[in-house]
Amino acid sequence: MTTTCGYCGVGCRLETHVRDGRIASITPAMDGPANEGHTCLKGRFAHQFSRNRERLTTPLIRDARGADPRPATWDEAIERIVAELTRIRSAHGPDAIAGLASSRATNEDCYAMARLMRAAIGTNNIDNCSRVCHSPTSFALRKALGLSGATGSFSDFDHADATILIGANPTEGHPVVGARIKQATLRGMKLVTIDPRRIELADYGVLHLAPRPGSNAAVMLGIAHVLERDGFVNQAFVDERTEGFEALHALLPSYTPEAVSEIAGVPAEGIEEAARIYGEAADACISWGLGVTEHKYGSEVAQLICDVALMTGKIGRPGSALLPLRGQNNVQGSSDMGALPDTYTAYRSVEDEEVARSFEAAWGVPLSRRKGYTIPQMFDAAVAGDLKAMYIFGEDVAQTDPDTAHVVHALESLDFLVCQDIFETETTRYADVILPASSFLEKEGTFTNAERRVQLVAPAIEPPGEARTDFEIIKVVSRALGHELPWATPSDAMDEIAALTPDWAGISYERLGRRGLQWPVAPDGTDAPILYAESFELPGGRAHFAALPYKAPGDAADDEFPLILVTGRRLQHYNAGTMTRRTGNVELMDADVLEIHPDDAARLWISDGDRISVRSRVGRIELPAQVTERIEPGHVFTTFHFPATRTNLLVGASADVNTSCPEYKVVAVDVRPIGEQPAKVPALA
Ligand code: SF4
Repeated sequence: MTTTCGYCGVGCRLETHVRDGRIASITPAMDGPANEGHTCLKGRFAHQFSRNRERLTTPLIRDARGADPRPATWDEAIERIVAELTRIRSAHGPDAIAGLASSRATNEDCYAMARLMRAAIGTNNIDNCSRVCHSPTSFALRKALGLSGATGSFSDFDHADATILIGANPTEGHPVVGARIKQATLRGMKLVTIDPRRIELADYGVLHLAPRPGSNAAVMLGIAHVLERDGFVNQAFVDERTEGFEALHALLPSYTPEAVSEIAGVPAEGIEEAARIYGEAADACISWGLGVTEHKYGSEVAQLICDVALMTGKIGRPGSALLPLRGQNNVQGSSDMGALPDTYTAYRSVEDEEVARSFEAAWGVPLSRRKGYTIPQMFDAAVAGDLKAMYIFGEDVAQTDPDTAHVVHALESLDFLVCQDIFETETTRYADVILPASSFLEKEGTFTNAERRVQLVAPAIEPPGEARTDFEIIKVVSRALGHELPWATPSDAMDEIAALTPDWAGISYERLGRRGLQWPVAPDGTDAPILYAESFELPGGRAHFAALPYKAPGDAADDEFPLILVTGRRLQHYNAGTMTRRTGNVELMDADVLEIHPDDAARLWISDGDRISVRSRVGRIELPAQVTERIEPGHVFTTFHFPATRTNLLVGASADVNTSCPEYKVVAVDVRPIGEQPAKVPALA
């Protein structure tokens, strides 16, 4: 059976091989458009979780807070959910209830969940975990260019003469794209890597810049300064296809390479060289990841990235593209599907009367015009007593979201919590009802990868025990709440999505076939590997420049917290690790570690492997140290793949100013050895 990988946003096509009802092996599909016969160790080998004995196989109900959950029938679980949600809606109104869809789930699951919250409950309190990763990318692309998606395809790396890769580590986070970038450098593409850590791809590039965490805006402004100063502006493109360049032109004189060097701690010559490499390239890409977005001004940096492409006209043709590396397998699709508090499918506002009426006509119920809560607002509202119930599927917010103590307080403050997942998680500890769901290997539907490609997902095995697919569960809950979701299969749901969403008008399961389609898809099935070849999706067809000055991040090192912690991911594991920790990948990496530079380690009396204490302004954790030159002095790095570490206890409330995406990438910390302490830890040089 051919399906689509359920780990990262590359969207590799995989062949599943089954024996005795279990996955025997997985191999890459040779005709997968995003992977072309390649795969990584997650997609290929990390499938044993699907039959792990810790899988949830029956509904669980907790009869009292603090009690252990007990097995229950589906009927009992659904009755409890309906009774509690109905009671809370009657007493406090529909906006006292919120739901989370999952960027791990299919487009059809997310659409169904959004419809359940909007039509069956009556609220726009629906969000998904793209909130805490790439919502700044979505915001920036929509504001600058019009559509919330990459402007091209991964194949653009094959045609580019140069690529700037900023705030991303594809060889670990998006391994098949990482390999594709390596291949491109071997055929001559000039690669500039910009990241506080010396990522593996830096060894394949011609230039690596390691800016201080939180200074990306200054770096992009410095590159833009040099591009303009040295005559790389494509004036015809700027005049004919954009607006707002004058304001950027007025801003750039302040961002000389020397000034940027002061802010970002990178050599002025490095800024000059990065700009020259990008400017001289006939075609060039810019690619980025969470190292851009998970900042207080992440959405502004993403807009400045758009500025650099627009001022040089490097957009809308093969080899010239903006390629954000979306994290989870369906980060793109979960938001495309309107699992967001302010938009229906394809990012159309809940306040847009015409759009709202089209959904009311299709769904047969009146719909709220009031924007709902974002994820952080949900937690604040729960603590304040305004939000009484949540329905969370496929998310482990108590492990992955920032300010863990606040998240836990919020979950404990709810009157009622439903979790729908494949394993018990840190979040299900607080659930009143836990519903056993299905992994991507057991369900039908579609995922949308980081190049806007909608691809089919096909079940290879049955869900274990009494577990059901998310799609079936949401349908059952919605029906029990009085709103029938009128689809026999996910394909029927896709037909409804296509009928209500102009950019998806030509999508059907028949047309998706083995290669998928890249939205927007015209009614005749023509898709769009490249966007903006002729005009942008904004009024007048013109793109918008943003003139946004550098601003300091939300946290900064000081005497008490002298090091800056950056969090990220590792090749062997995937995000919260719920799946990969239950595979052979734990033999390759079985704990989170704190990377620290040898100079800092020596100054702090820390040796490789020592257990250390890491304290931020909001929390403290312990984990082993890994002394490495991959990280710059003054910075430390870790992951949150293992719940025992509770890394996100350290991350505070600072978040992107436009989208509330948490600032995971700049956390001031104090690092100490545990046990025998030196009489006095020397100050930073
Ligand atoms: Fe799956 Fe991503 Fe690895 Fe491809 S690169 S196999 S999509 S985890």
